[in-house]
Amino acid sequence: MMMVRTLLPKYHDILEENRSAQYLDCKRIPVSFDISQSTDDLWKLHDKTLRSFNVQNSIQTSSLLDLKIELADRLFQACCFCECKCKIDRRKTPGVCGVQEARIATEFLHFGEETVLVPSHTIFFSGCTFQCVFCLNWDISQLPCGTFIAPEKLGRIIEERKKQGAHNVNWVGGDPTSNLLYILQVLQQMDTNIAQVWNSNMYCSEDTMKLLHGIIDIYLTDFKYGNDSCAKRLSKVEGYTAVVKRNHLLANEQGEILVRHLVLPNHIDCCSKPVIRFIAKHLPDALVNIMGQYRPEYRAYEQKDISRPITPEEVLQVKEYAEKLGIHQI
Ligand code: SF4
Ligand code: SF4
Repeated sequence: MMMVRTLLPKYHDILEENRSAQYLDCKRIPVSFDISQSTDDLWKLHDKTLRSFNVQNSIQTSSLLDLKIELADRLFQACCFCECKCKIDRRKTPGVCGVQEARIATEFLHFGEETVLVPSHTIFFSGCTFQCVFCLNWDISQLPCGTFIAPEKLGRIIEERKKQGAHNVNWVGGDPTSNLLYILQVLQQMDTNIAQVWNSNMYCSEDTMKLLHGIIDIYLTDFKYGNDSCAKRLSKVEGYTAVVKRNHLLANEQGEILVRHLVLPNHIDCCSKPVIRFIAKHLPDALVNIMGQYRPEYRAYEQKDISRPITPEEVLQVKEYAEKLGIHQI
C-alpha cells in the first residue's frame, strides 16, 4: 500500500476511501439538457461542464454522466469511437473492429497485473480495433465470442467483486474502445467507490477521450510502436503514432498513467527507443512497465523480424536506455 501511495497517490486515495472515483463525481454534476438539442450544442455543454466540474450532493434530474451517455449513443449510431471512424450504425451491424453490441469473453479477479493494481477486476471484451499478428489473446480479440451482460447485472457483479477484494475495475479486451457506450451505461447503474482503469491500445478517437475525461482514474496504456510503418505492417492500423501520442497527452491531463511497452525482437531502434524518448520528454510522471515476455504466437511467424522470442539482452538494452532517460520503471 505504501508503494501505491507514492506511485499513484490519487488512486491510493480512492482505495483508502479518501476520494471518490471520478465517475461518481460525474454522477453528481448537474447538467440540464434536452435530447432534441443538436450534437454540437451538447458537446459545447459537455466541455463547459467539464471545465467547471461543479460536484453537488443534492439529487439531480440529469448529470454529466447522462450527458456523456447521450453523446456516446449518438457516436454509436455512426461509430467514431476509435480513429478508424468507420461510421457504421452499430445498432444494426458490427464495425471494422467486429463489435456490434458489447460481448464479454470473461471477467475475474486478476492477480497477474502490475503489483500496484492487484487484485484487479478484469473485464475482457471480445473484439479489438487492431489486428496485431502477434496477439496473445487473438481468440478473443479477433474472433467474435462472449456474451452480452445487461449493464445492471454487470454493475452488480462489479460490486460483488469489490466485496471479494477488487481494487479497481479494469476495462480491457481485445480493447474496450468499441464498448464505450456500454461501459458508461454500466457505470450509470453503480454507486460503488472503485477506481476505473482504461486498459487500451489508445487508438481512441478524440471524442472518446473527451467522454472518458472525468470517468477514468488510471490509464493503463499499451504503447507499442515508434513509427507508423511498423504499426501498419504488424497491427494493420493507420496513422498510429500521431493518435497514440495525442491520446497519451490527453490521458496525462485526465488521470494517472501506467504505460506498458512490449519489447519486440529487432524493434529496439525503430520502436522501443522512440517510445521511451516520448515518455521521457512528455510524460515524466508516468509509470512504465517494460515488458520482456514476447514470444511469437498467432500469425507472428509470417513476419521474419518477430518470428523468434525476445532475448534477455534486448530487454536489458531497453531498460538501461529508459533508466538513462530517467523513466520511472516498475
Ligand atoms: S470502434 Fe469499431 S465500429 Fe467504432 S469506429 Fe472503431 S472500428 Fe469502427
Ligand atoms: S491491441 Fe492488444 S488485444 Fe488488440 S490485437 Fe493488438 S495485441 Fe491483441
